[in-house]
Amino acid sequence: MTLAWQDGLPFSSHFGDVYFSADSGLEETNHVFLQGNNLAERFAALRDGESFTIGETGFGTGLNFLCAWQLFEQVAPSGTSLDFFSFEKFPLDDDELRAALGLWPQMKPFADTLLARWRRRVPGWNRWSFGRVRLTLAIGDVAEVLPQLKDGEVDAWFLDGFSPAKNPEMWSGPVLAQLERASRAGATLATYTSAGWVRRGLQQAGFEVERVPGFGRKREMVCGRIACSSSEEARGRAPQSAIVIGGGIAGCAAAHALAQRGVQVTLLERAPQLASAASGNPRGILHARFGAGMSELHRFVLASYGHALALFDEALPADGELRAECGLLQLACNEAEQKRIAKLSGLEWPAHLLRFVNAAEASQLAGVEMAHGGLWFPGAGWVVPPALCSHLADDARIERRFDHAVETLAQTDAGWRVAGAGWAVEAAAVVVCCAHSALALDQFAHFPLTPVRGQVSLLPKTASSSSLHAVVCGDGYCAPAVEGVHVTGATHAFNDESLELRAADHTDNLVKLESFAPALREALGEVDVGSLGGRASVRCSAPGAMPLVGEVQRGLYCSLAHGTRGLLTGGLAGEAIAAMACGQLSPLPMAVESALAPLPRVTRTS
Ligand code: SAM
Repeated sequence: MTLAWQDGLPFSSHFGDVYFSADSGLEETNHVFLQGNNLAERFAALRDGESFTIGETGFGTGLNFLCAWQLFEQVAPSGTSLDFFSFEKFPLDDDELRAALGLWPQMKPFADTLLARWRRRVPGWNRWSFGRVRLTLAIGDVAEVLPQLKDGEVDAWFLDGFSPAKNPEMWSGPVLAQLERASRAGATLATYTSAGWVRRGLQQAGFEVERVPGFGRKREMVCGRIACSSSEEARGRAPQSAIVIGGGIAGCAAAHALAQRGVQVTLLERAPQLASAASGNPRGILHARFGAGMSELHRFVLASYGHALALFDEALPADGELRAECGLLQLACNEAEQKRIAKLSGLEWPAHLLRFVNAAEASQLAGVEMAHGGLWFPGAGWVVPPALCSHLADDARIERRFDHAVETLAQTDAGWRVAGAGWAVEAAAVVVCCAHSALALDQFAHFPLTPVRGQVSLLPKTASSSSLHAVVCGDGYCAPAVEGVHVTGATHAFNDESLELRAADHTDNLVKLESFAPALREALGEVDVGSLGGRASVRCSAPGAMPLVGEVQRGLYCSLAHGTRGLLTGGLAGEAIAAMACGQLSPLPMAVESALAPLPRVTRTS
């Protein structure tokens, strides 16, 4: 329990301090942070396509975020957007946050919207979009989080890390220096404290500060601005138009994220409908696999998992025909998995994200006997990927053009021209999301993309297998039966682009299933692989299974090589590219963004 209560106010026993003032949290936020940074005026002055970024030291109950969001909705012109960046080492749990925000009935609509996303939080960076307001919440320590912000991104700082006497770490020289580094020209700051050593620290870091009247019983507070510049520099702007090539999850997610930012999108797909290739499987599972070392790829996978759940919440009902939040088991079914899972168990994980289970619990959760324990992800499950694609691409700002096979990309004075047989489209930006077929385009011919054939098998359910009610994963996966069949798979065949169904691949899938869930395999009884249904498709992968996400040339971006995890990583990749194209705050830590970036890797490997 992080939160205690004192005199009816949320109180941190860890730090021995209140989250906001006893006079009135709302008015304090308004006085200190909103007025202290002159936000009403600055929001109102934004121009079409521009965005504003607030940075906060300590998310706490999220009250400051809700107040900034409300003010933005009240005064910012349409066509503008707000990024709010904050971090938190000790996130409140769902009930604590609900109780703390319950103090402000006037903020209820905003609080309820935040609370609906809160249960999707993961350690590390989280990105949630609330219309034209985006929250980036990094769950971690200030010393790890701030260095992952890019230079010059923040317009206004809310310095709110408990009183300097009680939490000096949050006000230390290195932290203040990071705030300065991450500030844009013209950035401002505000804080309730007027402690002399904090003021001097801010000055040393490169801020000009002044004492102004404080709120309530506090005589003084401090406002400041970055010393090196007097005016704000020109902001990045959303491009008016963009072309997205590829109508799978990666393309639909990129188109969705751009359209949400007001960009007019043309979505080009060579097939006659969306989700025709690897995103066309009847069921996709949300399988977030990472190790205790948390490489950049694993950080991306974890952030993508939280983001995907929040995106699915917007798109599809949690328990219907198109999606089920039935939970997922990663079984410790071989030595490598046992080691990985044992190492993960040495770290602390919030129970809403994952927990460790033994074979008996695993059997109970799965509804079928399991020979192994492992990790239980209660929020995971399956989705019908084509339904997700349709939802993401269903936006008045997205024009979908089918039977449009792209042959060339060429730079123009105003952006890019994309052409095929007898047609051409122009736009300010292009996002290439067409998996290994990107290799046919000159700009991508040298990319290290490999086609990987994968076949899933559709196993008719039996009386004994129908009790399976969670997704089970080992060296492959099997989902609960829907419409009479379990989807299981998938095979991996590098450099094989054939779409034929193969009996040998069905056998492969069955052998794998036997290896990680023998009782389930037995429950399925005799299977005739010659007549079994299934689907083969070609995924695209890059060395190290690291997707290629980022800018390739000015105005040309890609979201490629999602391999077997497109359902998981396609959404956050689309969000990252849209932020990049619009000159907005990245949803990813700098190290992850660099690890995903196509360019240095392509030049290194080619
Ligand atoms: N802005 C918040 C609000 O609107 O409710 C109140 C913030 S509260 C005064 C300060 C927050 O900073 C607490 O939630 C605390 O857990 C967090 N915090 C303190 N030390 C931290 C650290 N080293 N790294 C990250 N967060 C920290």
